[in-house]
Amino acid sequence: MDTAERLDGARLWRMVERMAARVAERRAELTELDQPIGDGDHGINLHRGFQAVLAKREALSGQAPGAILKGVAMTLLSTVGGASGPLYGTFFLRMAAAAGDAPSLDAAGLVRAFEAGLAGVKERGKAEPGDKTMVDAWTPAVAAMRERLAAGGGLAEVLAAGAAAAEAGAQATRPMVARRGRASYLGERSAGHQDPGATSSAIILRAMSEVAAEAPAS
Ligand code: ADP
Ligand code: MG
Repeated sequence: MDTAERLDGARLWRMVERMAARVAERRAELTELDQPIGDGDHGINLHRGFQAVLAKREALSGQAPGAILKGVAMTLLSTVGGASGPLYGTFFLRMAAAAGDAPSLDAAGLVRAFEAGLAGVKERGKAEPGDKTMVDAWTPAVAAMRERLAAGGGLAEVLAAGAAAAEAGAQATRPMVARRGRASYLGERSAGHQDPGATSSAIILRAMSEVAAEAPAS
């Protein structure tokens, strides 16, 4: 379990590839979610961004976690666009800063990186929990990860708890009235639709959790 309990660059890169694969599979669903309360581009935007990340495999896959996270951030910043591009860019950039140049992260280091990412999104987007944004997925996810960590959980357990909480958080955005982003233009009419950015956040975290649960490649 020891090697499985640290996240090195090779393993993080596999997580990034899984994020790209899951976003690709679910891009139509993300775009459909963005139709009634946005402009119907979220799945397209994010898929374009993650495909651009995959194209940097050669440069990024052999790097330490911080450098990979920074590469993901810069690529998403320059390719995703919309509101979510800069927000995801900030999220991964803050994660990168928290990871520093350590060759690997343990569960505690990863949770600190997620905390930093969430703080960055809140600063940049000014959204609070309940505003019907990606913050509604990341806030319970970070809380659940912190809790599982305190209970002695390792990487895989912490990420599994985070993914489940993010999924529940994304579903809980359905009745909310949007107060940030494009969906807020609809006012009360934004209620009754699940937020696309909260949904993609849960997809990203679930992708990480899947890879963490698999045996590390030797
Ligand atoms: P756009 O709304 O510009 O078309 P996207 O469709 O790519 O951008 O992303 C929309 C998602 O971005 C929303 O579902 C929401 O989760 C997230 N979002 C928008 N504004 C904010 C904000 N201020 N803070 C946090 N997340 C936000
Ligand atoms: Mg949109």
